Amino acid sequence: MSSPISRREALKTLALAGASLALTQAPEALAQTPVAKPAAGAAGATAAPTGPFTLPPLPYAVDALEPYIDAQTMTIHHDKHHAAYVANLNKAVAGKPELEKKFLEELLTSLDQLPPDVAKAVRNQGGGHINHSQFWTSLSKTGARAPSAELAKAIAQRWNTFEAFRAEFDAAAMSVFGSGWAWLTLDAKHNLEILTLPNQDSPIMSGRTPLLGLDVWEHAYYLKYQNRRADYVAAFAQVVDWDVITARYVAEAGGH
Ligand code: MN
Repeated sequence: MSSPISRREALKTLALAGASLALTQAPEALAQTPVAKPAAGAAGATAAPTGPFTLPPLPYAVDALEPYIDAQTMTIHHDKHHAAYVANLNKAVAGKPELEKKFLEELLTSLDQLPPDVAKAVRNQGGGHINHSQFWTSLSKTGARAPSAELAKAIAQRWNTFEAFRAEFDAAAMSVFGSGWAWLTLDAKHNLEILTLPNQDSPIMSGRTPLLGLDVWEHAYYLKYQNRRADYVAAFAQVVDWDVITARYVAEAGGH
């Protein structure tokens, strides 16, 4: 539905609104997402712009997802881990005006055109930035707990039931060996697919549209769940905001 041009325009609008890097989220979806004030300190010194990329504040208080995701994990995950991806990404593009002016999505889809050291940094740090920027906005305590509209239909066509989808998605998350993510994505033909990617690799790198990512790096859950990744995966399912995920799907594939 959205052409590359209109999508780029939408991205620029989002960037101007200070919501840069909510790349796969339609403006409507943003409007539907309750944007609570970040907790004090969430956008502290680490968010000071020292380059083109900035750490977006959490769209809710750090304890908003308790008890499923605890406040301490949220604080460290956002204020330390995500902030570090942003800082290191800015370092990688510093002094390279031709890169500084590009949207991260463009950089991630043209890694082979970058010098190897820059490509590595964009892949790891830029991937970390874009993945986490979407991750925070995928979650809430108040959103729908199941997909609706066209996404509900597409999931039913592909998996028969939402429960069957859930089982495959959770199994994917459990199968990640080492650090990585489980993803629900759209491929270039707008087919839904579940996949896993290592480290901070983004589905965008292979031309896919990420709809929902589940971070299974140990930093995402170890403080509360230790080695019990299955408990974390089950808890995550309790806070996925399917209103947001549905809006992403409709924005990208609606009418197809
Ligand atoms: Mn993470």
